[in-house]
Amino acid sequence: MDEKKRARAEAWFRYADDLGLGPYYLDRASLRGSEPSAREGFAGAPSSGVGRVGAAEPSSTAPPIVAAAAKTTPTATRTIPQSGSAPAAAATAPAPIQRAAGLSLFESTDRIEGDTLDRIRADISPTCTRCKLHKARTQIVFGVGNPKAQLVFVGEGPGRDEDEQGEPFVGRAGKLLTQMIEAMNLKREDVYICNVVKCRPPENRLPEKDEIATCSPYLLRQLGVIAPKVICCLGACSAQTLLETTQGISRFRGEWFDFHGAKLIATYHPAYLLRNPAAKGEVWKDLQKVMAHLGLQPRRR
Ligand code: URA
Repeated sequence: MDEKKRARAEAWFRYADDLGLGPYYLDRASLRGSEPSAREGFAGAPSSGVGRVGAAEPSSTAPPIVAAAAKTTPTATRTIPQSGSAPAAAATAPAPIQRAAGLSLFESTDRIEGDTLDRIRADISPTCTRCKLHKARTQIVFGVGNPKAQLVFVGEGPGRDEDEQGEPFVGRAGKLLTQMIEAMNLKREDVYICNVVKCRPPENRLPEKDEIATCSPYLLRQLGVIAPKVICCLGACSAQTLLETTQGISRFRGEWFDFHGAKLIATYHPAYLLRNPAAKGEVWKDLQKVMAHLGLQPRRR
């Protein structure tokens, strides 16, 4: 293996390790097999009662990457300083995560006056060849759901089923995501679901840096048009892309961030939960935070 490949592989192993995610990536590949018909419920969800969001932590004093969240926000928010900036000194605040230096993805993405989801879809175009993912994809998987959703889920990239059907999260992991959404007393149609990259990476590999860089401006435009209250990142790829950090998701999962007027929270990817059902409890806690922020009661079973 050459040096560059080795360094990249090592970085991914460190990152998967950080998350306890080794099996997740194997799992993505294994998801290419046929779909089992029996489905496990989202066992993280209790039968009733909304858990309160944990005691509010004082916000860090480090500069957030975006304007401060609404003052009424019931939860503490972490900040993402540029690397090299001084960490916050607040005694009880968690250490801020580090964001890559330089112009942020958001800053470098052009704003389009009167942008719409249809326009973004048309700008991508069904025949997009901007990155190498176009070579193996069947179709672009743009996103689905309520164009005015208060809650947007952002995954990594389409898998085999999504590539075939043109809709995000329709395979095994997608069915679990649907259960998670329903446990929140919402329907898939109430929320918006999309991915960082719109074309399936071959063999369900992780999207590569250049592919993410090419496609993520369209994700930012989608988020800008929908203007949700909450963005829920599913897994490390979307969290690291939007927060512009290389830190492992386990360091900041379940914490609130300000994201250009929205609140952003990262939780584990449903595909990871298929392999590690014990982590459903953690994810349910994260979803409860989202529900509390949106004033939602969980579904009664
Ligand atoms: N995993 C993702 O991240 N996105 C999908 O659309 C499906 C599986």
